[in-house]
Amino acid sequence: MPESPYPMLPVPEAQAIILQQISPLPPVTVSFTEAYGLVLAEDVSADAPIPEYPTATVDGFAVRAADEGARKIVGEQMAGDFAAVRVGAGEAARVTTGAPIPDGADAMVMIEDTIEREGMVEITAPVSVGDNIRPVGNDVSAGQMVLPAGAILHPPEIGLLATLGKTSVRVFPRPKVGIMSTGDELVEPNEPLSPGKIRDANRFSLMGVVRETGGNPVDFGMVRDEPGGLAALVERALPQVDVLLTSGGVSMGQRDFVKPYIAEHGTLFVGRVNAKPGKPVTFGIVHGKPFFALPGNPVSSLVGFENFVRSALLKMAGHTRLERPRRNVILEHDIRHSPDRVEFQRATVTFDAASGTYRARNTGGQGSARLLSLHGANALLVLPDGQSDFPAGSTVEAILLAKV
Ligand code: AMP
Ligand code: MG
Repeated sequence: MPESPYPMLPVPEAQAIILQQISPLPPVTVSFTEAYGLVLAEDVSADAPIPEYPTATVDGFAVRAADEGARKIVGEQMAGDFAAVRVGAGEAARVTTGAPIPDGADAMVMIEDTIEREGMVEITAPVSVGDNIRPVGNDVSAGQMVLPAGAILHPPEIGLLATLGKTSVRVFPRPKVGIMSTGDELVEPNEPLSPGKIRDANRFSLMGVVRETGGNPVDFGMVRDEPGGLAALVERALPQVDVLLTSGGVSMGQRDFVKPYIAEHGTLFVGRVNAKPGKPVTFGIVHGKPFFALPGNPVSSLVGFENFVRSALLKMAGHTRLERPRRNVILEHDIRHSPDRVEFQRATVTFDAASGTYRARNTGGQGSARLLSLHGANALLVLPDGQSDFPAGSTVEAILLAKV
């Protein structure tokens, strides 16, 4: 049997080699409305305190806490402007939520705790200084650093940027990820099948996981198993993208031209990993761009993406937490495993509140062509090499792909 010329790397070693070659993309300035999910590349501070004026947190009356008895209503202060109303001894002003507290008042009494009659307001609950008032700078003080570089701009952070009037921000851009499929057997999903053909699945699932990871997929279509065509499409794609993903053509077949292309036109860092599925996962740098060549089997390409590409895209996008959470899980049934490689079985993990443990079942047939093995999976079980079958009740580690 011919031997692959590429050393078989343990998964963690291949991951480390890849991440060493990957750097965050140069930051860009974008409108804050385009920044959802992106990583901030600058510190953002507040020029002014929030709130800028003492603000009523309820609808009701602004009063002086020390006064006693009914107060005379001397005016009103609605949210949205500064009314020229002042609250003196024995007086009150009608105030709405979000309005500035009138001068002279030191507490807000909510409308539910008042009785109004003939221009006077009686208060039916105890009042203390500061009640129902957000003081100046309560939420953010002037000059405070609110969001550090590296913060992820989730919806609350976008709202904060809006509050601060910070409408353009420096962020790490979404990596542009070129995606192409290789294989003489592939046709487009809307094409009829003729003998020997299958429909291209990988381009579409890979575009999806790229998007889920925060990248922008760019579809470069399909290329035949022929070195000239592959080279031409790759050379056209590379200048337009930050990273290239191919699937297929990395096995030991006579028409597997992707590895030789990378080795010839760039540097091949990873040519084989000791993993199932995904042994032929390949990584190199070509014309300065990271190039991931994933195996053609649909499950292998997605598990390969999960194990090697996802963290690279996150790093390019400025993230520092690159890893999925992991949990120890208890197997609910026997799992057969051959000890020569680490195996990533697709599984459904649930949390059992009664015992405080995570339980796992695999998703049935684990063939690397069976995309249904990923349907309903929220985890990858990590079955280590050097160890064979796992009986029901064994504890193994699981990579959580989604909320359990
Ligand atoms: P390869 O890695 O090119 O040797 O392909 C391995 C297996 O995956 C073969 O059965 C291919 O037909 C299949 N395959 C390759 N590319 C795709 C694709 N884009 N979509 C679905 N199956 C594919
Ligand atoms: Mg192929």
